[in-house]
Amino acid sequence: MPLVNGLSVDVEDWFQVGAFEDVIERDQWSGLDDRVDRNVRQILDLFDAAAARATFFTLGWVAQRHGPLLLEIARRGHEIASHGWDHQRVFRMNPASFAADIARTRKVLEDASGTSVIGYRAPSFSIDARTPWAHQVLAEEGYSYSSSVAPVVHDHYGWPEASRFAFKPVEGSNFIELPVTTAIFRGKRLAAGGGGFFRVLPYAFSRWAIRQVNRTDRRPAVFYFHPWEIDPGQPRVAGAPLRSRLRHYTNLERMSGKLEHLVRDFHWGRMDGVAKRENLRLRLERAVQG
Ligand SMILES: [Zn+2]
Repeated sequence: MPLVNGLSVDVEDWFQVGAFEDVIERDQWSGLDDRVDRNVRQILDLFDAAAARATFFTLGWVAQRHGPLLLEIARRGHEIASHGWDHQRVFRMNPASFAADIARTRKVLEDASGTSVIGYRAPSFSIDARTPWAHQVLAEEGYSYSSSVAPVVHDHYGWPEASRFAFKPVEGSNFIELPVTTAIFRGKRLAAGGGGFFRVLPYAFSRWAIRQVNRTDRRPAVFYFHPWEIDPGQPRVAGAPLRSRLRHYTNLERMSGKLEHLVRDFHWGRMDGVAKRENLRLRLERAVQG
């Protein structure tokens, strides 16, 4: 049976990305052009065409304003999970404020979608060596899995010492972390599960990386993208660093086409399913090792 990879969408609008947070204040958000609803509906159609299921890690801020959208995502068979309230990075919070953030977000997501929320993705993959308490807090707040670690060196994020594949960060608990996919290229780890790697480089690189993970490592890949990445018509943010702007706006018009290939070339499913299967695999490995 082929491996089922984890497909995910981080549901936030064009003005909520980490790269622009020094330019656009949170209190300006509600006055800006709201494009997330339309972009997510386009993604739902793209997934339906390939019979792919996915997890939508959604901001509480978005869920509060787009209840019908959350119902529609759930109605089409996808998982609703948490991306935190307003994209505050975990290492900017303490255990108490983090607990409050994920509890508040979960309540709004569950009320809007009518489904239970068990998964979490940290804004900008911000669970790293600075936040050793974060997984414990997630487990205590009733979450079952997280996909919040990028086990690479990167200019905005990364925890290069972390495992490339599923691990159990909380002793005595089934809580599981599913790091975003990396590939090994010339002995180095590359972030290969989405972001600039997917949008800026030719699709062949991503196909090669996911195949490497499935065939050589025999593990499911974890892939992510954002609704704004399929939206070439989004407003341009002036004043952000050139490097951020280059990365944000490159190949937006090609993204939908690339995604159509991606969803057809591999088997994709929800992250809660990946968490379940990886949990079972880790348990079996442990049993074999005695
Ligand atoms: Zn995000």
